[in-house]
Amino acid sequence: MDLDMIYKNRVEIDDLEGLVTSLKDIVGENWVSTEEADLVAYSKDAQLITGRWLIEGKIPGLPHVITWPGSEEEISSILEVANMREIPVVPFGEGSGVVGAAIPVRGGIVVDMKRFNKIMDINDSNLTVTVQSGMNGKELERALEQEGYLIGHVPQSFHTSSVGGWIAHRAAGQFSTKYGKIEDMVTTMRVVLPTGEIIDTKEYPRAADGPQIERLFLGSEGTFGIVTQATLRMWPLPGKTAGTAFAFDTIEASLEAVRLILRQQVYPAVVRIYDKTETSRHFYDVKRAKKRVMVVFVCEGTERLVNFELSIVREACRNAGGVDCGNSPVEHWFDTRFQVTETSKFTPKDLIFDTIEVSCMWDDASRLYHGVIEEVSNVKGVAMVSAHASHFYPQGVCFYFSFGGVPVSGETPLEFYNTGWDAAMKATLEAGGAISHHHGIGLVRARWMADEHGDMLDMMKRIKHVLDPRDIMNPGKLLDEDG
Ligand SMILES: Cc1cc2nc3c(=O)[nH]c(=O)nc-3n(C[C@H](O)[C@H](O)[C@H](O)COP(=O)(O)OP(=O)(O)OC[C@H]3O[C@@H](n4cnc5c(N)ncnc54)[C@H](O)[C@@H]3O)c2cc1C
Repeated sequence: MDLDMIYKNRVEIDDLEGLVTSLKDIVGENWVSTEEADLVAYSKDAQLITGRWLIEGKIPGLPHVITWPGSEEEISSILEVANMREIPVVPFGEGSGVVGAAIPVRGGIVVDMKRFNKIMDINDSNLTVTVQSGMNGKELERALEQEGYLIGHVPQSFHTSSVGGWIAHRAAGQFSTKYGKIEDMVTTMRVVLPTGEIIDTKEYPRAADGPQIERLFLGSEGTFGIVTQATLRMWPLPGKTAGTAFAFDTIEASLEAVRLILRQQVYPAVVRIYDKTETSRHFYDVKRAKKRVMVVFVCEGTERLVNFELSIVREACRNAGGVDCGNSPVEHWFDTRFQVTETSKFTPKDLIFDTIEVSCMWDDASRLYHGVIEEVSNVKGVAMVSAHASHFYPQGVCFYFSFGGVPVSGETPLEFYNTGWDAAMKATLEAGGAISHHHGIGLVRARWMADEHGDMLDMMKRIKHVLDPRDIMNPGKLLDEDG
């Protein structure tokens, strides 16, 4: 196989044939592949720059073998073999991660969780659903809806992401301001550790029985073990969903309106602030939003609650100088909320494009927004940078920046891409923000982890070493700033 690879640190595996035979003994002949087409298919995730590389005929990182285990015992045996032979293992959900976390940069064994696709239990009195980690988001929600429930986790990648991927990346959905993020929904997990032990956490509404060590797996990006099952909180289906939209003269006025709403403990399910650039792109036909900042709200729950919440939202928006834009922006949001056509259109036109989500406290919000826009705009070759804010807390906000441009003065696409990212990370840290809100670290942010965490990074590495002494789990990511 003569493939041009971006990541050159692929391990050499002695006796690959012997490894493949052991894996077939564990999961069965049909659930192991070393076919070139399969290896190439698992060489990337949805990190946007990988699309550019594929057009150039380059493979990001090539695994040696793909497995599709069907039970925890099989995963445990795979990890025992990998641990004994010090072979990298990359858990794989649906490959929709956008930070390169599922790219097998050192090669090794991919453990695809697709066969872990069942709902194990729906418990009405506890309001919980227990689900295997490979289950697809949309399938889970569809099955729950038929029973009269929802979990309220709707990432834009809903149709192409799994429960395990959500947990591994601490994902956040579009309705997060009401229902919370994935870490607010998970009550228990079952995990196979890198050394093969299977651990289960106990179910309770809350307990004071020591540190909740299992929370470590939330955000661990496949580097601490493989999550096989989780119990999530669910809710009865809401009786009403309704929205409204207001436009503001400045980003500051729009942030202030939202801050004042949350301060009253009113949590609209969806809040989206589009800066002026994004407002003109998405709402060019809304006259009242011209040269303004659009904010879309959606409230969900019982009819009485929704009516009450909307009255508070309207009052706060008017008080903050907002102009009522009616319901059409809300309908537009519902119609287009899963569309990502722009990103796939840019790559063949040589444009390098990416999105960067960060968060900060309210005190820092204006500084962070303007700081990132300015720093990224100053990068040579950047043609556009804009933002929306889509997840909110009584304490602060998540900004989601998009930037695009073309490499100049002989830069490679990766150099240009990294310069854009570095500008955004630097401005975020300078404004006191967190370097990721929900996409995670993966490959793209690992070099910024020391600045983000200071001494805590060393503690995280020590914990990782205890769990994974031979560093087999998803090496080169998250805590491994050298890649
Ligand atoms: C168009 C688009 C829109 C998106 N919108 C959102 C959004 O609204 N909100 C959001 O939060 N994210 C969003 N994302 C990012 C992505 O969908 C999430 O990060 C998602 O959680 C990844 O899930 P996955 O199953 O595809 O994981 P993968 O990409 O397969 O894997 C991601 C990481 O998790 C690890 N992993 C996967 N399964 C397991 C497991 N069972 N145990 C341990 N580790 C595991 C992998 O090793 C890897 O490190 C979007 C992505 C795209 C392409």
